[in-house]
Amino acid sequence: MDSLTPPAPTIPIEPASPPALPEGPVCTQCAAPALVNWRRRLTDTELADHLALERERRAEARLLADPQRTPPPDLPLPTAQELTRIVYACGAHAISLEAAAHIHASACTAPNEADLPGCDCTPEVAPKEPLDVVPELPAHWIPGGP
Ligand SMILES: [Zn+2]
Ligand SMILES: [Zn+2]
Repeated sequence: MDSLTPPAPTIPIEPASPPALPEGPVCTQCAAPALVNWRRRLTDTELADHLALERERRAEARLLADPQRTPPPDLPLPTAQELTRIVYACGAHAISLEAAAHIHASACTAPNEADLPGCDCTPEVAPKEPLDVVPELPAHWIPGGP
């Protein structure tokens, strides 16, 4: 028995294949690849979870921060008005383009087959972006100008 020769490995070594990840967002209703999306408000639970995570992230950042430097200012936590969740849907479960343009209520059940192509909430009408910054251009750059 030659103890210097290690036994030949019998198990072929294969590169570990990464776990199969979904290609992208999927439909909330049927898990088909999503084609469209819209936004809705967070429920109270989702908001609480989000804020808890945010607090945790900040606490960790403070812990890891360089004590030699001045700590970053403590920004206020986001409010429900600033947060939305994206709802994905496939083509068959897409709500109407007009409905998708608005932010839906946290309790909105879309895409719910019973309500398609609408939904069961009254979406918020997003305020029109005010075009308060009028770009100043030389007169001869303005179409129809002198
Ligand atoms: Zn679907
Ligand atoms: Zn809705």
